[in-house]
Amino acid sequence: MRYIFLLPILLIGCASPEATSPAPEWAIAIHGGAGVISKDLPDSVRLDYEASLTAALEAGKSMLMEGKPSLDVVEAVVRILEEDPRFNAGRGAVYTADGVHELDAAIMDGRDLSCGAVAGITTVRNPISLARKVMEDTPHVFMIGAGAEKFADQAGVERVPNSFFDTEHRRRALDSAKRRELEKVTASLESRYGTVGAVALDKAGNLAAATSTGGMTNKRFGRVGDVPVIGAGTYANNATAAISATGTGEEFIRHVVAHQISAQMEYGGKTLIQAAENVIFHKLKPGDGGIISVSKTGEIAMIFNSEGMFRGAADSKGRFEVAIWE
Ligand code: ASP
Repeated sequence: MRYIFLLPILLIGCASPEATSPAPEWAIAIHGGAGVISKDLPDSVRLDYEASLTAALEAGKSMLMEGKPSLDVVEAVVRILEEDPRFNAGRGAVYTADGVHELDAAIMDGRDLSCGAVAGITTVRNPISLARKVMEDTPHVFMIGAGAEKFADQAGVERVPNSFFDTEHRRRALDSAKRRELEKVTASLESRYGTVGAVALDKAGNLAAATSTGGMTNKRFGRVGDVPVIGAGTYANNATAAISATGTGEEFIRHVVAHQISAQMEYGGKTLIQAAENVIFHKLKPGDGGIISVSKTGEIAMIFNSEGMFRGAADSKGRFEVAIWE
């Protein structure tokens, strides 16, 4: 008999913190690329990056507080980052070996696995919005190059000359990548970072992911990385999580990183953090990059194996942070 009275006390004593603290109503994470980000970054440069990330995160936070759908939020946040020349997406896209810009982007809706992706885009100002149009206005999920740009005109998506994406700092990065190539020195990852992404859980419990990039400095013509490959650099599924990756695209494609994290949760019973750490630290190599993710319960993971990752996270429980290094 005595034991029956003890039972409620034991149950309360054993309750995990997760069980006692309610899940957040909404959550968001963003990234602005991973790579060799020197800790000696001048303060003024660091502050500028932090201000850009903060502004994008604030915009996403306000939309989620107002009850906007996660799909609208991730598109809007990525558009803000695409307009910022600091990041390797949209306006600040890196140069290919031929001295032009070829952009990739993808978006995914966790409600029903709808997705849209574009690759090898040279004249669309905001590739993430073209990816969304592919998702919503065509029976397809992936469009490339000239065909995708023709579709941009039909869909009323703004086009710009390729020189719109020219920036001095990315031109210098190409010049030094070419010099290193001549000297047969491995290209520094530094010349790559700046891909952008956003993942969000909205008040209705829906997840979405969006990623946009100029790819890698000095890439060969026609090279496509992981970003627009659904399941590699971008993935969202209401049953598990929304994930956006950044890093050496070839490795993220080989390991199907974003989907592998989701699959380890769905079939392997792992939590988001366990699945993401397993993939980033045990499947990829040090220096390959990282991911941001939000799970269906609002858990946020921002995990990377590179020196740094520009990132930010916020949720309805008051979390709001931006960071670059560990
Ligand atoms: N993952 C991108 C690509 O390979 C680059 C990056 O995230 O830095 O195209």
